[in-house]
Amino acid sequence: MTRTIVIGDGPAGLTAALFLARDPGHEVTVFGTDQTGLHWALLRNYPGAPDVLGDDLQRTLRQQATAAGAQLIDGKVSDLAASADADGFTVTAADGTTATGDYLVLATGKGSPKLARALGLQTGPEGVAADRDGRTAVERVYAAGRVSRPIRSHAVISAGAGAAAAIDILSREAGRDVTSWDSLPKEDT
Ligand SMILES: Cc1cc2nc3c(=O)[nH]c(=O)nc-3n(C[C@H](O)[C@H](O)[C@H](O)COP(=O)(O)OP(=O)(O)OC[C@H]3O[C@@H](n4cnc5c(N)ncnc54)[C@H](O)[C@@H]3O)c2cc1C
Repeated sequence: MTRTIVIGDGPAGLTAALFLARDPGHEVTVFGTDQTGLHWALLRNYPGAPDVLGDDLQRTLRQQATAAGAQLIDGKVSDLAASADADGFTVTAADGTTATGDYLVLATGKGSPKLARALGLQTGPEGVAADRDGRTAVERVYAAGRVSRPIRSHAVISAGAGAAAAIDILSREAGRDVTSWDSLPKEDT
């Protein structure tokens, strides 16, 4: 079983969790404090959800990720450590809850830059540098959403970044490019 820890529960983190948790070989833990900007938004530009209250979108995103099998832990991550051994990454929340993972997705929005720095990643006005799949300079650490794109921030862009990171993790594990598609059931003939 591959384990990914997602830090941050906005559209980026919850979308990454949804895509990863749909894979039966994957275990996903999301740490979050539910302080997403969505709670202040009325979105008229989120595709497929016209005129949606950010509160409602956030609730749906949380439900979708949970229904897919992701574990959501309400708690602020205060510390994290990376080790080269099989334990991978160890994340500790302010209340002492810990989790370990093989992959780490940073999706903390504009908050918690010190977590990125704890891993040796540079942060600045442009956030954490990541490629189009969300890969950072640290192996198996991804950055998705506003944490790597602080300006021009939009919910659908963060959600897409979370999905891209998840698909990259799943592809690495599979050793080939994968998609997370479902097809219509074949009609009986
Ligand atoms: C007033 C307002 C109106 C907006 N209107 C729109 C709009 O109309 N359309 C649109 O597309 N976008 C809109 N946005 C922007 C939208 O909210 C953001 O683009 C989006 O929320 C970014 O998603 P994200 O997942 O990257 O980061 P965020 O939504 O910021 O999520 C980050 C999450 O990580 C959590 N977190 C941070 N640090 C830690 C930690 N150490 N441990 C655990 N959890 C942590 C935070 O609590 C938060 O829940 C609006 C924003 C605001 C403020």
